[in-house]
Amino acid sequence: MQKASLQNITILGSTGSIGVSTLDVLARHPERYAVYALTAYSHITRLAEQCEKFQPQVAVVGTSESAAQLSLLLQAKGLKTQVTYGEQALCDVASAAACDTVMAAIVGAAGLAPSLAAARAGKKILLANKEALVMSGQLFIDAVRSSGATLLPIDSEHNAIFQCLPHAYQRDQKQRDPRAVGVEKILLTASGGPFLHRAVETLDAVTPDEAVAHPNWVMGRKISVDSATMMNKGLEVIEAHWLFGAAASQIEVVIHPQSVIHSMVSYVDGSVLAQLGNPDMRTPIAHALAYPERIASGVPALDLTVIGQLQFTRPDFLRFPCLKLAYDALIAGGSAATILNAANEIAVQAFLDGKIGFRMIDQLIARTMDKISSCSITDIDALLEQDQFARLTVRSFIS
Ligand code: NAD
Ligand code: MG
Repeated sequence: MQKASLQNITILGSTGSIGVSTLDVLARHPERYAVYALTAYSHITRLAEQCEKFQPQVAVVGTSESAAQLSLLLQAKGLKTQVTYGEQALCDVASAAACDTVMAAIVGAAGLAPSLAAARAGKKILLANKEALVMSGQLFIDAVRSSGATLLPIDSEHNAIFQCLPHAYQRDQKQRDPRAVGVEKILLTASGGPFLHRAVETLDAVTPDEAVAHPNWVMGRKISVDSATMMNKGLEVIEAHWLFGAAASQIEVVIHPQSVIHSMVSYVDGSVLAQLGNPDMRTPIAHALAYPERIASGVPALDLTVIGQLQFTRPDFLRFPCLKLAYDALIAGGSAATILNAANEIAVQAFLDGKIGFRMIDQLIARTMDKISSCSITDIDALLEQDQFARLTVRSFIS
């Protein structure tokens, strides 16, 4: 096999769950990958350790205080990594000429600007930060198309769908009608989270720690709460729409508690293709890093005889109203998904901070979506205005 040239990687959000898994995969293949930049908001000690191990050219943090703290730690280790901070610095490392590939793994809307900068600069973007795509939709896809960037999904479901689509469709980001290649439906699997079987009337009493205790995946706190409300699956329905061009009616959510089938594509001839694996994000990360080749990820081989049974049921919108709200936002179009995402981020943070009960999350989002009417979004300023307005509205409901 021909030796691949060295890829220079920026990891946005390197101290988070996806960031750490990405570094784990990179460390297995030093002959293929070099780290150009690492970024974190506040986990400075962990970031310093990562800099020592991976020797990036640049490290970006959230504030000038954190930058000063990191600089001291790096000096003590004798490292030459340049330290910067703030949103512009994130955009710079995502679009730098010296960087080939960007892992977009910041959580929430904070990841939009650097992910968009990578898209505009024509990078290979490994997209974990689903909120960026959900909130900016067409703008993000247009940026990818006009620069010729390559967008590869890291979210396990979307990575699975990508793997189950025809090769020509994977490679041509301008061709975005799945029906044209015989796709009937996308079947998005969902574990159902920690409250799949809990009595609905007791849900308001759940604590943040119960909500983040996911049965199959170890993830950051925000996405873990989203999994408990199933807003995560709702955001993923919208993400699938933008990534693969499927209409809401072509995207079906199936509850599959074992999280072994990561998603499926159903074709007009009756074939259903699925991607399976142990629930470990290093598989989609390794897939996207090496695409179209394959590299080892450190994930043990799947043994179906140990798993024994795979189950499937339909989701219940009464138990998971957030899933219905996300479908409604996708169907409404315009800025509805931006409003949904912003309201969700604020409500989830309020829940994690102990300010509201679990069931208030969906109620606050529904109230915000009723109050703000969706409008068409033609540029990033209009988008950020809608995002800020939705955040202010939810905060006013909470207080
Ligand atoms: P996490 O909370 O573990 O990590 C988030 C990272 O973003 C950290 O490095 C943090 O320092 C950084 N960050 C947070 N706020 C920031 C800000 N304001 N400015 C700059 N950086 C900031 O989150 P995670 O679980 O790794 O998830 C990251 C993204 O990947 C999310 O969008 C999530 O939906 C998506 N995702 C995660 C998983 C998973 O298994 N963890 C799976 C699929 C998709
Ligand atoms: Mg997912």
